[in-house]
Amino acid sequence: MNESFEGIVLFKRPYRDHDALVKIFTEKWGTKMFFVKGLNKPNHPLMSYTLPLTKNQYIGTINQQGLSFLKEGQSLSMYRHLQMDVDFQAYVAYIVQLVDAATADNEPNPTNYQLLEHVLDKLNQQLAPQLITTYVELFLLPQFGTHINFDQCLYCDEAKGPFDLSLRQQGLLCSKHYHMDEFRLRIHPNAIYIVQQLQTHALNHIQSVNLNSNILSELRRLMDEIYKEFVGLRLKSKSYLDQLEKIHDEANLLKDMRQKNKNVDKQKPN
Ligand SMILES: [Zn+2]
Repeated sequence: MNESFEGIVLFKRPYRDHDALVKIFTEKWGTKMFFVKGLNKPNHPLMSYTLPLTKNQYIGTINQQGLSFLKEGQSLSMYRHLQMDVDFQAYVAYIVQLVDAATADNEPNPTNYQLLEHVLDKLNQQLAPQLITTYVELFLLPQFGTHINFDQCLYCDEAKGPFDLSLRQQGLLCSKHYHMDEFRLRIHPNAIYIVQQLQTHALNHIQSVNLNSNILSELRRLMDEIYKEFVGLRLKSKSYLDQLEKIHDEANLLKDMRQKNKNVDKQKPN
C-alpha cells in the first residue's frame, strides 16, 4: 500500500550496478532503509529527492522490517547553504551520523526527528556550527546512557561557577572542591558555562553568544573527553571534522601571532 510521508535523507550508497540504498529519517516511522532501483542511472526521477541532507515529501511503500520503497518525491527543503559550504557540511555530517547512531532503526522517534529538523534549519541560517554540534551532543548524551549534572557542584550544591568537570564522578566541582578529583579535566570554566547555557536555553538564544577560538577549542575538548569516556563511538565524519578544526585552529593561531607582532611593531619607538 502506498503511504505519504515526510523524511530527511541521512545518506545513500550504491547497491549492485545501478541501484542504491537510501537511508531516510521518516517523521512517522523513524529511520528506514529504502531500495531505489536504477537510482545511479542518469536522469532518475528520484535523484534530487534522495540527496543527503534534503527534506522531502514522499510516496512509497513502508515495510516494518527490511527494505522499503520510494515511488515519488517532492522537495520540502534543500538546505541550500549547507549544500554549498564545505565547513558546515563537515559539522552536519558528524551531527547526522551521531543522530543516526542514537536512533534505533524502524522505530518512530519524533524527538530525534524534530532535533535533526531544527538543527538543520539553524545550520542553514549559518548559526555557529560548533555550538549547534555541542547542543546535539548534550541532547543525545542521555540517549547513550550518560547523565551528567551540569547544574551544581557535586559536593556543596554551589550553583555559581567557576566549575571544573570530574569525569570519574560524572559531575561538576566548584573551586572549593577542585581537590576532590586530582584528575579533573582542568577545562576553562567558560566552556562549562556555555554547556550550562546550551542545556537551559533554546538554540535561538545562542546566536548572540560571541566566542573566541580558545573557548571553542576548550568546548570541543570538553565534549570529546565526555564522549570518549562514556559513549566511545568511532565515527568517520568525526575524524574529518577534527582535521578541519585543527586546520582552523592553526590558522587562528597564525592570525593571533601576526596581530601580536603588529602590536609590538606599533609599540616600538621610532
Ligand atoms: Zn563545591
